[in-house]
Amino acid sequence: VASVLAWAAEREIAIIPFGGGSSIVGGVEPLPGDHISITLDMARLNRVLSIDAASRSVRVQAGILGPALESQLGAAGFTLGHFPESFSFSTLGGWIATRGVGYSSVGYGGIEQMTQSVRMVTPVGVVETKGPSWNGAGTSLLQTLVGSEGAYGVITEATMLIHPLPELQDCRGVLFSSVAEGLAACQDIAQSGNLRPTIVQLYDAPGTVAFALTSDRRHGLRRLAGSLVSGYLKTQGYDFSQSSLLLLSFEGEGKSVGRQWDRALEVCGDHRGVSLGRAVGQAWLRERFLQPYLRDDLIGHGAMVDTLDTSTNWSNLTHLYTAVMSAMKGAISATGGGSGYVTTQISHVTEHGAVLHATFLGRQVATVDPLVRQAQAQAVKQATIDATLAAGGTLSHHGLGSRPADVWPEGSMGAVGARVVRALKQAFDPAGIMNPIVHVAS
Ligand SMILES: Cc1cc2nc3c(=O)[nH]c(=O)nc-3n(C[C@H](O)[C@H](O)[C@H](O)COP(=O)(O)OP(=O)(O)OC[C@H]3O[C@@H](n4cnc5c(N)ncnc54)[C@H](O)[C@@H]3O)c2cc1C
Repeated sequence: VASVLAWAAEREIAIIPFGGGSSIVGGVEPLPGDHISITLDMARLNRVLSIDAASRSVRVQAGILGPALESQLGAAGFTLGHFPESFSFSTLGGWIATRGVGYSSVGYGGIEQMTQSVRMVTPVGVVETKGPSWNGAGTSLLQTLVGSEGAYGVITEATMLIHPLPELQDCRGVLFSSVAEGLAACQDIAQSGNLRPTIVQLYDAPGTVAFALTSDRRHGLRRLAGSLVSGYLKTQGYDFSQSSLLLLSFEGEGKSVGRQWDRALEVCGDHRGVSLGRAVGQAWLRERFLQPYLRDDLIGHGAMVDTLDTSTNWSNLTHLYTAVMSAMKGAISATGGGSGYVTTQISHVTEHGAVLHATFLGRQVATVDPLVRQAQAQAVKQATIDATLAAGGTLSHHGLGSRPADVWPEGSMGAVGARVVRALKQAFDPAGIMNPIVHVAS
């Protein structure tokens, strides 16, 4: 890797580190125009180098895909606990480079909390952070490299913190009669002090309906929605078309998981949450990595579909949710997408706030020009970004990618902050060859 970078720097050829290529922000795209770029595929740097069971850590090469890493850790009785929706097709290096978060972030944290040290090859040499990530020695170089999106160098390996595989993973569905009640339950769970879920994922009403429609016919919510149980729930004021589904999971030793669930159901009960049991939860666990790819089928059928993640504190969450939903709906219609469909999942909850993962779907403009189609979706995103910032939210969208100005608006870090980040880029990559489309390279 070092030789490739040195060779490219001499010739001013761009290097784009490529993990799984699952970036949704154009992070692995070359610069437009006639610049020469090399896409550096990390696929063959894919080995688990060593597992330190005593310290619960693993040294791994960065090009390893999620399933390969988890299966090798699983064989040794461990898990990393990082399960993004793109788990099947994304790599450790990509997760670190984009500061990723997975479904189980409530229990295991984001990738930045799992990363103990990183080895990065930059155009000016190798940078290796040493020792435990919790050392108190000044500015964290590690956290500068995490989230660097290939703009400083190529992550070749990392030491990650791992955890014993849980004895039991008990994921269940709980139905609320409105998203407001679901949100209140999520906040209470996150702030309870004695509940330690690994997954908290709340679907609003359109998302609950979509989930029921798309989940496997034989299992889960689809079966339930069509069964007598749903008829009974309706008489009690729970209508799937208006309701909000919470997926909640506790992991660990059997008895303690049971106790956590008893307490969690009391909290959900305070907000009229009704347990749908394990079938829904287990079906979701099985299908969660498949549903996002529905997007590809829909695009193939003339639909405009994309997602945007925003976040805020609990006190502002309902306000942000309303602002995002209404901006998306308005923009779909304004760009000729019809009345559209928008839905939000609330996830990555902490004591302090949560992430809103919004998905929009509308009619694609009738043209064969992919740039015009892209511009339509981009206009919807931009309107939503503007509404998010105006509503006091922040963007948490898996990286800056090729449109940093959209997600990192000029001035948001101030003139001094921008100068510092540019200086970092200059120090790691004076010739500006590393993934030039990303970050503050311009
Ligand atoms: C359907 C779908 C669902 C998704 N869900 C999630 C989610 O739940 N959570 C989440 O965080 N993200 C999600 N993403 C976004 C994406 O999967 C993540 O950003 C992921 O971390 C990218 O990993 P990758 O290996 O595919 O990286 P790539 O897409 O190949 O690269 C992403 C960026 O990282 C850089 N990079 C990659 N490898 C290295 C390396 N070894 N060294 C230096 N730079 C590198 C690239 O240059 C690029 O800038 C989703 C994407 C899709 C398509």
